[in-house]
Amino acid sequence: MEKLRADGLKVKYKNFNLDLSFTLEEGEFVSIIGPSGSGKSTVLSILAGLNDTFEGKLLLNGKDITKAKIQDRNMAMVFQNYSLFSNMNVEKNVAYALKIQKKSKKEIAKEVKDLLSLVGLEGYEKRKVTTLSGGEAQRVALARAIAKKPEILLLDEPLSALDAALRKKLKGELRRIHDSRDNMTTIYVTHDREEAFSISDRIIIMKDGKIEATGTPEELYNNPPTLFTALFTGEGTILTPSSFGLETNEVDKIFFRPESVIVKDGKFWGDINQYVVLENAEILSIDYLGSRYLLML
Ligand code: ADP
Repeated sequence: MEKLRADGLKVKYKNFNLDLSFTLEEGEFVSIIGPSGSGKSTVLSILAGLNDTFEGKLLLNGKDITKAKIQDRNMAMVFQNYSLFSNMNVEKNVAYALKIQKKSKKEIAKEVKDLLSLVGLEGYEKRKVTTLSGGEAQRVALARAIAKKPEILLLDEPLSALDAALRKKLKGELRRIHDSRDNMTTIYVTHDREEAFSISDRIIIMKDGKIEATGTPEELYNNPPTLFTALFTGEGTILTPSSFGLETNEVDKIFFRPESVIVKDGKFWGDINQYVVLENAEILSIDYLGSRYLLML
């Protein structure tokens, strides 16, 4: 079921033009990735109702919300820099949205407990938010966002202020939290391609204010529709057809992934037609990447 439709969104800044359309299905986890300055945050701010300098139309469940106030959109946003209420403890931060929903004290306490448990912060109710680590603060921000029972959760680089190990852990939790909420649709903005690939149903790649490509991570990696997409989604080499001894006017560049290359010498058990086969090769450099080596041939 179509959840959100962004139709002909346009923004004109002095040195930047945004121009794009997309739709989101209910329950999808979609990441928007792209280089810095490609317009990712601008898209989120439009969806959240924080930007009114745009043209175009926004439909939520088929209903026009282009001009709807922030509080009438049923969306929640988590930012890079937590933005918690620093004068309130953890419980009050999370309960904030529940109070607006006019629930009883008992209901609120139970729901805060459940939400804190969902984000892995059992027993943190009375902690001052100023005493929390970055990772803990971001978990509180997530719990507070989800407390609103948003139809759409907007995540603007929520992990980028955290160290690598914590990012990795919380990344998996983001997906788990998404899956635990009935029909919640999540849009995750990140500049980290690997992060987006590992947890998203679908990816939107942005470049210069436009959508360069969209698809599942597998589709974009294995069949990138553009050279930019190919290079943005992983390692690869670009050669001209003539460097393969091919004479053709149909393509001017050939792109392939490192794992598609084999050197003829030696045994091989696969469909050789799926590979770029080198007659011989000289190793110029070796990068050790932990689970594999990347060779420059
Ligand atoms: P990203 O999130 O992909 O890094 P942004 O959406 O933050 O990109 O910004 C896209 C471009 O729009 C950038 O070039 C940025 O400088 C510009 N920009 C963002 N907000 C404004 C604004 N309020 N006024 C003028 N230019 C802006």
